[in-house]
Amino acid sequence: MSAQLYYPNTLQPSSLDVHTLSLLEDSILAGIQLIEQNTAPAGSDSHENLYTGHSGIAWAYCRIWYQLPHLESKIKFEELIRKHQPRLHRHEHSLHAGKLSPIGTPTGAAFMGAYTKYIMSDADDGRWEKAMITLEFAVGMACASDEDGGDEVLYGRAGLLWALLNLQKLDPAVRERMQEWEGGEDIVKVLVQKIIDAGRRGRIKAKKEHNLNTLMWEWHDKMYLGAMHGAAGILTVLLQVPRETIEPFLPEILTEIAALCHLALENNGLLPSSLGAQHRSNPHVQICHGSPGLVLLLTTLRQRFPANYNEYAAYSHALHAAAKKVWEQGLVKKGLGICHGVGGNGWVLLMLAQGCGREEKEKWLGRALALLVEAGKMPPIGDQAYRKPDAPFSLYEGVAGTLAAWAEAYVVLDGLLDGKNWDEGAMKCLGFVGLGGRGPTGLF
Ligand SMILES: [Zn+2]
Repeated sequence: MSAQLYYPNTLQPSSLDVHTLSLLEDSILAGIQLIEQNTAPAGSDSHENLYTGHSGIAWAYCRIWYQLPHLESKIKFEELIRKHQPRLHRHEHSLHAGKLSPIGTPTGAAFMGAYTKYIMSDADDGRWEKAMITLEFAVGMACASDEDGGDEVLYGRAGLLWALLNLQKLDPAVRERMQEWEGGEDIVKVLVQKIIDAGRRGRIKAKKEHNLNTLMWEWHDKMYLGAMHGAAGILTVLLQVPRETIEPFLPEILTEIAALCHLALENNGLLPSSLGAQHRSNPHVQICHGSPGLVLLLTTLRQRFPANYNEYAAYSHALHAAAKKVWEQGLVKKGLGICHGVGGNGWVLLMLAQGCGREEKEKWLGRALALLVEAGKMPPIGDQAYRKPDAPFSLYEGVAGTLAAWAEAYVVLDGLLDGKNWDEGAMKCLGFVGLGGRGPTGLF
């Protein structure tokens, strides 16, 4: 039997009070300082993606600046964002179909470059132009290619689609510019259709090899089910496209979500990492593979399509069974990251808390915060016996992602203590970075 992937969780839920709120704020300030002490200016960053590149650190700062604007008196956000902006390149023929998502590819720096036009006092039009050329080329490629294996969130079409939906929200000028691209108004519809078509092709193989008659996507010859490489993430994005675009496909999407719920319920709340991996003795519990992705998907369904969510009891049974596993097995030894670490596991419990009634809300928020606070004791921030990530200050593996999770937790807890109703709009919730969960806000 392989070694246990997590430490047993003996944490007590965090208290929902101003003490925890100020701990989050102090942790964010200390985390920014730690990143700044340990990173040089971006220059010509060889990682132009959000996952491990400087753009990802800049992206975390954009989110924190928006969510906690009162920190401006202590943090020079504009200066720091400038430091982590890499030299921007025009990418046209250097892009590949199937590798177009900003999370794992150079479109990440381009999205960041396009966004800075709207937040920086010295925004430069040359930078915006270069960014838009790269994005136009990437979208054209995603709309033209029928290659399978390029639909997931980390590298593929779903990640690109989610970023585009947010970019469109930013400013009417962006929408206008995108209408000049080939496909114009229909880009979102075409991308959705491409993803659905690939899922239908995958269904043939899923039926033949796994006796499962639902949409399914392949990545590297496996049918992954988690959020970063598989079905849970792709479906989370699809549920957030405009209603009139996704409605024709909703029956197929709901059938697939139900199939994922049954797979998890048959496995005691543990979503297998891929089809055929049901009997793995030690399943992953992290956002990229396993139950946290199912929690995110089902909270998105509950938020976007409440009537559909409420009409089938297996959705809420699976949500609670999967969330229980995230709490029990969420202290993964890989450390604090949001992709395969404790930060991401705490974040999905935060999303669960937001849509619950008062008692459940407090229970899950206390647990989410306990995981997120614990992440702050892991390397490279603290010295607890967890692994130090390969890219320790990055957005998806390192400190920057944990900061983004803390900022989201701050607005949720602040809203609760303020007695605001849980209207997300009022509370500046942005959802899980790169996957959302509450619809496009402009800042993905
Ligand atoms: Zn991962």
